[in-house]
Amino acid sequence: MKIYLDGKYVSKDEAKISVFDHGLLYGDGVFEGIRLYGGRIFRLEQHLDRLFNSAKAIVLPIPLTKQQLVEACCESCRQNKLKDGYIRLVVTRGVGSLGLNPFRCKTPSVIVIADTIELYPEEVYREGLKLITASTQRTSPSAVNPQIKSLNYLNNILAKIEAVNAGTVEAVMLNSQGHVAECTGDNIFVVRRGTLETPPVSAGALVGVTRQAVIELATKRGIDVSQPNLTRYDLETADEVFLTGTAAEIVPVASIDGRIVGSGRPGPLTLQLTEDFRKLTRTDGVLIGAK
Ligand code: PMP
Repeated sequence: MKIYLDGKYVSKDEAKISVFDHGLLYGDGVFEGIRLYGGRIFRLEQHLDRLFNSAKAIVLPIPLTKQQLVEACCESCRQNKLKDGYIRLVVTRGVGSLGLNPFRCKTPSVIVIADTIELYPEEVYREGLKLITASTQRTSPSAVNPQIKSLNYLNNILAKIEAVNAGTVEAVMLNSQGHVAECTGDNIFVVRRGTLETPPVSAGALVGVTRQAVIELATKRGIDVSQPNLTRYDLETADEVFLTGTAAEIVPVASIDGRIVGSGRPGPLTLQLTEDFRKLTRTDGVLIGAK
């Protein structure tokens, strides 16, 4: 396996960063998780736009251009002979001193790991996922804005621990107003009387690339999509609920806090959009090219 690290393709054993990197010391950095389907990197430009926006929000100058990052992602896939997989693109603040000051870190590090991916088991897509509502609130936009995809995921990890302790794998996170923000690693959608609803970004949702693709696919089918503030009540009384994310794609939800959602089975709109999404991933994306 070859990993891109600051301009070189190195083996897994050689792919190491300093213990003084602020990415490690403080979670100071940004990242993206991106999918490769049939030799095409899905919506790479959108992922790079989000990466650059996250970096801008934390005053982190990415030492490569977007085009150079496109090359690094494509070459990482080619070096590892991947046609389907997952790309983890990381930019850390770089090596500094044992103090918070990010401006003491001279050079950010850029890492690209292209690997295969472990999806949820097939039965989750067939039967639906059981969710809980986490007691850990989503970070307020006035603290660390949830739109920043930073290396500090403790907010989500604390909610994930609650999910795992409750015997499941994903949790709904509410914001300080009690509105639904998203899940620990996925956005959330509600189907109600044939229309789609998803929490607005202002409620603490990440601008998910899969979320955006699903909004486009639904709109193409003439399905009304809105972004109102949602409460637990809205989830509990929905006809269908599903999650979206790069790794998970579209995941039906069977129950929330032990309450059955809709019929308790993947609903018709969830299944339709899953089919549309799978088709889209075969045609939409940057071709990595042959080696
Ligand atoms: N919310 C959070 C907190 C995430 O980490 C992610 C990505 N795993 C998502 C939503 C989904 O975003 P995307 O569709 O871009 O992967």
